[in-house]
Amino acid sequence: MSVLNNAKLNTANLGFPRMGQNRELKFALEAFWSGKSPEDDLLAVARDLRRRHWLLQKEAGIGVIPSNDFSLYDQVLDTLVLLGATPARYGSGPVSLGQYFDMARNSAQQPALEMTKWFDTNYHYLVPEWSAGLHLIADPSKAVREFEEAKALGIVTRPVLVGPITLLLLGKSVDGSSRLALLPRLLLAYKAVLEALIAAGAADVQIDEPVLVTDLSIEWKRAFEAAYAELGQLPVSITVATYFGALGDNLQLASSLPVSGLHIDLVRAPGQLDEVLATLPPEKTLSLGVVDGRNIWKSEFATVRSLIARAVAVLGQDRVVLAPSCSLLHVPFDTAGEDKLPSGLFERLSFAVQKLGELRDLATGDEAAFAANAAHFAGQRGGASSRVQQKLAALTEDDFARPQPYPDRAPLQREALKLPLLPTTTIGSFPQTAEVRRQRAAWRKGLLDDAAYESFLEAATEECIRRQEELGLDVLVHGEFERNDMVEYFGEQLDGFAFTRNGWVQSYGSRCVKPPIIYADVERPAPMTVRWSKFAQSLTQKPMKGMLTGPVTILQWSFVRNDIPESETTFQIALALRKEIADLEAAGIGVIQVDEPALREGLPLRMGDYAGYLDWAVKAFRLATSGVRAETQIHTHMCYAEFETILPAIAALDADVISMESARSKMALLADFRAHGYPNEIGPGVWDIHATRVPGEEEVRGLLLMALESLKAEQLWVNPDCGLKTRQWPETEASLRNLVAAAKAVREELVGR
Ligand code: GLN
Ligand code: ZN
Repeated sequence: MSVLNNAKLNTANLGFPRMGQNRELKFALEAFWSGKSPEDDLLAVARDLRRRHWLLQKEAGIGVIPSNDFSLYDQVLDTLVLLGATPARYGSGPVSLGQYFDMARNSAQQPALEMTKWFDTNYHYLVPEWSAGLHLIADPSKAVREFEEAKALGIVTRPVLVGPITLLLLGKSVDGSSRLALLPRLLLAYKAVLEALIAAGAADVQIDEPVLVTDLSIEWKRAFEAAYAELGQLPVSITVATYFGALGDNLQLASSLPVSGLHIDLVRAPGQLDEVLATLPPEKTLSLGVVDGRNIWKSEFATVRSLIARAVAVLGQDRVVLAPSCSLLHVPFDTAGEDKLPSGLFERLSFAVQKLGELRDLATGDEAAFAANAAHFAGQRGGASSRVQQKLAALTEDDFARPQPYPDRAPLQREALKLPLLPTTTIGSFPQTAEVRRQRAAWRKGLLDDAAYESFLEAATEECIRRQEELGLDVLVHGEFERNDMVEYFGEQLDGFAFTRNGWVQSYGSRCVKPPIIYADVERPAPMTVRWSKFAQSLTQKPMKGMLTGPVTILQWSFVRNDIPESETTFQIALALRKEIADLEAAGIGVIQVDEPALREGLPLRMGDYAGYLDWAVKAFRLATSGVRAETQIHTHMCYAEFETILPAIAALDADVISMESARSKMALLADFRAHGYPNEIGPGVWDIHATRVPGEEEVRGLLLMALESLKAEQLWVNPDCGLKTRQWPETEASLRNLVAAAKAVREELVGR
């Protein structure tokens, strides 16, 4: 049965989760940062984790094991340190641990480097700062030390580096100079690092260039050629690793780089295999990314086997390597101990440790493993149930559109809600104080009974409403005290979601998240938020805003099933939310906000794929929100200000009101809204809630006047940038007081005009 003629293929891993099985690194980092433990303890934990993870990979039978994939905070920052490319304001010379963490974390002295998402993952890296005067003095010690550590265990590893072009492109020019102009100096530093690794005994290195799956201008394509013409001369085998998508128009470029091997992602982009095989020059090795490094499902060996067979047929066995699609950093550690899952789910899961086993079994063509895998998948039905499929199939165009257009809805809403000009509101959550978190933890542990917890929440909600009334806000919220997390809260109440005990994934630094797993059809067995919204509305004459997380955000922040398209899962979620919204409306809630902070981060890596994604993302939002009466006002909220590329999609959501971040950028985005002729209402945030600072009344007034240069008065709402969950009550009250006063002042000026 083996396509492999019973001979073993080589396997390689591209990176391993560094947090540890029980998040040991997180706890060691936090103990060190809080001064509870010394540097040596942290370094000892880190060394021990590396050792355990190398041995684990070796015992799993992985041929090529990475080093320098470990990081105390972030691999992009580590690369900057290796190259000596860290900003001068953090000090010069070899980077101490203190300086390293100063760059990673805000300190009393100065802010950290900016942080942003690594491609379309939820991992965040520190953004390199490029300037013409940057001095690069390579310090290869971290990479060399880790290589030697592994060597002492008898494991000759393949060090991993973030590649020069990806590094330059992920960074920002801070002085307006061209990033490309830095390339020659950067390459000298890369060479110094590689030479040090070669001297230590490294024969292979993995250089990650994931920007090869994105749109590259001709200059950057040339830069690739120039960079690898240099690096390719060194006496070391280089594998250029690409992942998160297809090479597409960069295929010729990637194949022809003068290096020994190329890694491609065949999970996200299986369709690229034949083209790659046709393009790859002889002598080059192809690393097939066949085990999903981005999701938690077991691999279907039958599918993978056909990919492997095609590659082996063209290249021969020696030139093929099996690997995960990308670093395993993005999946949890081990499924062991997950004993609280719905029946049948455990067997379907594969975390990092299981994925290593899959690689080995695929490479050896292990008959028993193949048979077990085939039996497992034969028992899986796959696809949505016919009942759920029919529900979606029965939808008509009318289900995706409000019956009346916005201009007809707006006066009805104004009448029904009796709102003043420039209405004031907040984004949903109010301070989740230590007390709120303590009560929830006690209730979760069973130390507090349901009735006691409910009455605590009722009291917190009532107090929050009284404070909002006293502050004079126009549209109130209940405060979200009953919610732990904006996705988990809904996932726990919807069918089709499961929660692991220990399925942590690094988000940034010591911060880990435990995404829910969408493993089956999503349906809503019972109302989720109606009880709290109704209770809150019963306490006040002011309109109470119902608060939901949108379908795209719920999808983006979960691990999703891979037997149906993401769009279909999103529509299932949207239908569940549509029912919730109908129930809220029937319960007398006249304003309902559907948060979509993740809409933008779901954008594909290639511009050519934007339209397809935005089409279903917008449809899902409209499906969730279009079932309400014209008088019912739909709000949405997004936490960022970069709207240029997606403004038409934002307008197409047809929410009556959108609130978003903009205090920091001083309303810069409104010019785009004006240029686009955005027709509905907008609440550009006038209080940057990411800082502890209280904005003054004059400052808020200034921002509102600025907004009025771009917007009609009837369009403008007054609200903070985002939810107030992380703020404290005193600054919250002070800020909102100024916000309301500023709104009133501008209102009077407008009436007086
Ligand atoms: N309604 C949520 C809150 O106020 C929105 C959070 C978010 O935008 N990320 O907390
Ligand atoms: Zn937000």
